Amino acid sequence: MNPEPPNPPDQTKGTISKSARKSVLQRDQYTCQGCRLFDPSGNNLTMDHMTPKARGGANAQWNLQVLCHICNGEKGDMTMREWIEGKKEHFDTETETGSQNQD
Ligand SMILES: [Zn+2]
Repeated sequence: MNPEPPNPPDQTKGTISKSARKSVLQRDQYTCQGCRLFDPSGNNLTMDHMTPKARGGANAQWNLQVLCHICNGEKGDMTMREWIEGKKEHFDTETETGSQNQD
């Protein structure tokens, strides 16, 4: 009798293995996918889940990308899409404040 079910492949549980981290770093060329910070040491770079684990994102390489600490903190539990849209909105509102010439 087997009391334990067989372990499913990497899904939402577990940690990212060193080898997975390395291959994601190499795939993204040691560059933050948010601000393009390049860090060949990898010390300032983190593994980010494009679809956050909190949203059911898989703990798999295709769902991982390289972000620096700052971008990762900014993105939080947003998906990449939400994060980029949020950045755009912020940028738009900042640039719209120049047209007050009405007479
Ligand atoms: Zn960054």
